[in-house]
Amino acid sequence: MQTHQNYINGAWQPALAGGTREVINPANSQVLARVADSQVEDTKLAIAAAREAFYGHGTWRRMSGPRRAELLFAVADAIKARADELARIDCLDNGKPLREARSDVDDAAACFRYYAGLIGKPQGGIYEVGDGFGPMHAYSLHEPIGVCGLITPWNYPLLMAAGKLAPALAAGNSVVFKPSELTPLSAIALFEIFEQVGLPPGTANLVLGTGPAAGQELAQSHDVDMITFTGSTRTGQTIATAAVGNLKKVGLELGGKSPNIVFADADLEGAVEWAMIGVFFNQGQVCSAGSRLLVERRIADRFVARLAERANAMTIGPGLENPDLGALVSQAQLDKVLGYIETAKAQGARLVCGGSRYTDGDCAKGFFVRPTIFDQCRPDMDIVREEVFGPVVTVQTFDSEAAAIAMANDTIYGLAGGVFTADGARALRVMKELRAGITWINCYNPTFNEAPWGGYKMSGYGRDLGIYGLQEYQQVKQVNINLRPGVVGWYAR
Ligand code: NAD
Repeated sequence: MQTHQNYINGAWQPALAGGTREVINPANSQVLARVADSQVEDTKLAIAAAREAFYGHGTWRRMSGPRRAELLFAVADAIKARADELARIDCLDNGKPLREARSDVDDAAACFRYYAGLIGKPQGGIYEVGDGFGPMHAYSLHEPIGVCGLITPWNYPLLMAAGKLAPALAAGNSVVFKPSELTPLSAIALFEIFEQVGLPPGTANLVLGTGPAAGQELAQSHDVDMITFTGSTRTGQTIATAAVGNLKKVGLELGGKSPNIVFADADLEGAVEWAMIGVFFNQGQVCSAGSRLLVERRIADRFVARLAERANAMTIGPGLENPDLGALVSQAQLDKVLGYIETAKAQGARLVCGGSRYTDGDCAKGFFVRPTIFDQCRPDMDIVREEVFGPVVTVQTFDSEAAAIAMANDTIYGLAGGVFTADGARALRVMKELRAGITWINCYNPTFNEAPWGGYKMSGYGRDLGIYGLQEYQQVKQVNINLRPGVVGWYAR
C-alpha cells in the first residue's frame, strides 16, 4: 500500500515528525492508502516555501498572464488524460457514485481551462479623471494577494481543489493547500500534475493532515496573506477568529439549510425529480442541498407520495457500481445523520420513507443510509434548523407566496434556494426575496464554473468561481498618472 507525502517546495516529503494516517474507503471500511499526518511544523515549512516563491524568486507572480495560462491549460489537459483514474479515486475515497465523480473531474478540468482563459483577458479599467490638480488618467491593476492558504472539505474532493487552486494560481499567488484529511487522494494526483507541467518550486504546496494540526496554522500565521476556506460554519468561525492577527483576507464558503419551494402549478413530475437531485445527489452531502422542501398545501400529499415512491426505488451501493446513492463519507458522518433522524422522530416529525442505515449484502461494511423523507415538520425542529449533510429532506407546507418566502428565509443560513412554478413572474418575485447567494428556478443544484458561488448570512462571505472567483484572489491597485507633469500652482507661495 502506498504512503503519500506532502508536496513542499517542489519535492515530495514525509511529515517532519514522520506520522501517517489511514484513508478509508467508506463503502467497505477498508484502508485505501496511507498519507502524511502533518503537524504545525509541516505547515510552517510549506508557508515558508510559498513565501520564498512569492516574495523571493517571484517566478510565478512575475510570469505573464498568457504564460501562466499555458501551464494551467496543460493542467486541464492532464486532468482529462487521467479522467478515469481521478474519477475512480474520488469514488473510492468519498463514496460517491462513479458517474457523479466523472462529472466532477470534467468540471475540475473545465475550471482550470476557464481561469486559464480568463487570466489572459484585460483586468480592471482605465478612468479619465482630473480636477483642480489638472488632467489625469487612473487605471486599476489586478495583482496577486501573495501567499494564500486554501482549505477544503471532503464532499467534492477534486472539484473543490480545482475551484480554489485554479483561480488562486491564475492570479499569480503562491499557495498552501490543505485538503480534507478524509479525502486527500485526488488532490495528491492533482499535485503530481502540477509537478508534471512544471509549476515553479514553492508555487503550489500540499500539506496533508487534520484541521487543528495542519490547517489552523494557515489561518493563524502572519506569513499568510489570505485564507480561503470551504467547510462547516463552526470551523469557519474558528478560522475567521484565528485570521484576525494580521488581518489577512478571509473567504468563507460555509454550510446551508436551503429551501426548495414547490407551488401547486409546478410540473409535478419534474419538481419531484429535481427535488431528488436537490437533496440526494452526493448522498445529500452538498452544501447547497435543497434539504427543506416547502410545498403548497393543496399538492403536498400527492407530491410527498410520489417523492417517496421514487426515493424508495433508488439503488444504493458502492460508488464503483454506479448506484443512485453511494456511501456517506465516514463512520462519524453516518452516526451524525442517524442521530439527526432519531432526534427528528423524537421531536414529532413523521417518517415517510427511509430513516435507517442500509445494510444489504456487503453494504453492511460501509456507511450507507436510505433516502429519507420527513413530513409534518415544524420550524422549531432540529431537523429543520440544522444542516444534516445526508440524504434527508424535511417537508413543510404553505398556503401563500408570502408564507413560503417567510418560511424559506427563516434560517441562520443563506446559501441557496429553489422555486418551482409555472408562473414566470412569481418565480422571479420569490427568487428576489430569497436571502441566499445561489438560486434555481424550476431546477435545483446544477452549477457552473462561470457563475459566482457563495452565501449570505452565516453561509459565509466572498465568492468562488466566475470572474468574482478570480478577483477574490487579487488585490486591486489604483494607479494615477498626471498628464501635465510640473507645477500645479495649488499653494500661493
Ligand atoms: P469541516 O469544517 O469539518 O472541515 C473542512 C476543512 O477544514 C477540512 O479540511 C478540515 O480538516 C479543516 N479544518 C477543520 N478544523 C480546522 C481548523 N481549526 N483550522 C483549519 N482547518 C480546519 O467541514 P467538513 O465536514 O469537511 O465539510 C462539510 C461542511 O462543509 C458542511 O457544513 C458543508 O455545508 C460545508 N460546505 C460548504 C460549501 C460551500 O461552498 N458553501 C461546499 C462544500 C461543503
